[in-house]
Amino acid sequence: MKKLLLGDFAVARGAYEAGVRVATAYPGTPSTEITEELSRYDEVYSEWSPNEKVALEVGFGASLAGARTIVSMKHVGLNVAADPLYTAAYTGVNAGLVVAVADDPSMFSSQNEQDTRLIARAANVPVLEPSDSAEAKEFTEKAFLLSETYDTPVILRLTTRVAHSQGLVELGERKEVPLKPYLKDIPKYVMMPANAKKRHVVVEERLNKLCADSNSCPVNRIEKGSSDLGIICAGGVYQYVKEALPEASVLKLGMVYPLPYKMIADFVKSVKRCIVIEELEPHIETLIKSKGIAVEGKNLFSIQGEFSVNLIREKVLGKKTEAVAAEIPARPPVLCAGCPHRGVFYTLKKLKLNVMGDIGCYTLGAVPPLGSIDSVLCMGASIGMAIGFDKANSDFAKNTVAVIGDSTFIHSGITGLVDAVYNKADATIIIVDNSTTGMTGHQNHPATGKTIKNEQTYALNLEELCRATGVKSVDVVDPYELDKFEQTVRKALSESGVKVIIARRPCVLLTKKLYKGFEITDACKNCKACLKLGCPAIVNTEHGMTIDASLCTECGLCQSVCKFGAIKAK
Ligand code: SF4
Repeated sequence: MKKLLLGDFAVARGAYEAGVRVATAYPGTPSTEITEELSRYDEVYSEWSPNEKVALEVGFGASLAGARTIVSMKHVGLNVAADPLYTAAYTGVNAGLVVAVADDPSMFSSQNEQDTRLIARAANVPVLEPSDSAEAKEFTEKAFLLSETYDTPVILRLTTRVAHSQGLVELGERKEVPLKPYLKDIPKYVMMPANAKKRHVVVEERLNKLCADSNSCPVNRIEKGSSDLGIICAGGVYQYVKEALPEASVLKLGMVYPLPYKMIADFVKSVKRCIVIEELEPHIETLIKSKGIAVEGKNLFSIQGEFSVNLIREKVLGKKTEAVAAEIPARPPVLCAGCPHRGVFYTLKKLKLNVMGDIGCYTLGAVPPLGSIDSVLCMGASIGMAIGFDKANSDFAKNTVAVIGDSTFIHSGITGLVDAVYNKADATIIIVDNSTTGMTGHQNHPATGKTIKNEQTYALNLEELCRATGVKSVDVVDPYELDKFEQTVRKALSESGVKVIIARRPCVLLTKKLYKGFEITDACKNCKACLKLGCPAIVNTEHGMTIDASLCTECGLCQSVCKFGAIKAK
């Protein structure tokens, strides 16, 4: 049976049919749906891990114990998981271990545009890259075979366009793969220097063999066309190339590391002009050129952003296609109406504080009109940055706070807090606890008390955790209570040492209820205090302020900032 599937769902289906038993991940757009989908299968143990490093370590353990395992993450998550990945390449695996990593060219939902193929190359791990949903399923199954045949973790690289596009996929039956017996093998699995030196040799031999075998691997194929022009490409770019340059000969790479150099050399010889077209870094081009094979590539194309059919036509054929401007209003991302984070940033802006931000919905506290966040670096960095402000002895430090979400705090903020206490920092840390992993679509995490399958489990108590690190001052406040929240922040800033404020209120989208509504009455003096909240439901019209009922979530924040009592519940 054929089914229309998202690329991520196709990866999940491929893993399921390949007999996967364990699936781990930390949510990250555009990879989240892989593990969400796998959690629907009873045959698969699945979990949201606290972060990608733990996800890969659990996955590695499951592989050693003999279970086929898939670990999923977005590209920046691979940085967090890099430590176990580099050494897992040395130890090899027992049962198949596949690491699905989704890159984000054009940064639709990411803080950078890094290219996973470069990390794979540094870690000496082979990479398969599908170009549509059908291949996403097929390559996932192949990745498990590759992993077991060559005794290595395998990266399955996706990009946003493949992960989040739909295509027809032929569904098959699940193949039950029995647990592979675990055999104690200290020289293979204990990476201390004497063993690791020998394993490094194994890694090099494995890569050389993979490189040679890739010349006859069916995921790499030549599609014969005109001998005037040859294109080397992979992944989603292959689809653009086929549409933009239907006459060209194409070498489509399914394995993008290591590369089939003999196949490439023969292909380049067979055409008059050969261009490597790849999004992001010149990974394929650089490797090909390192073998003395002449190709074009980044002399024509940027290392930034997503490509398109029109772009490829323009760069290769010089044919510019006039884009038709879409007549639609721009919709920049904003915090939802009634978002509990809105009260936090409204207050921090009012107090004119420096705000070290973090990764999550609340990163949007940086955009107007809240415009309150000064810096966002990576998951968990806000606390370290606030410590740095303090330790630099700058005048700014006393007016600086760190803001971090509950899920992000568990992911990689805890160690920052430990550092703050251990090294006697003066730091005010605000954990904006919306009781979910909001930005990626409301996934559970260790403090929600629910597993990925919505089963009850122990709920990590953030207050107790903070106190256990040695923090003496821990306050829990509802960010909708603006006066109380402001007083708590003022008090924390006036004290020395590490202070934690947990601004706790569930994401408003988790607590939707029937709308009754608010209205702005004649008592309104048009002072625009409510407009400063930046709530999309509050609209400034030529007749004065009104509330858009379709956007209002009845949070009541506008009521609490109105000095004239002009905003009433209906
Ligand atoms: S999803 Fe929830 S936490 Fe995120 S912006 Fe919307 S209301 Fe706020």
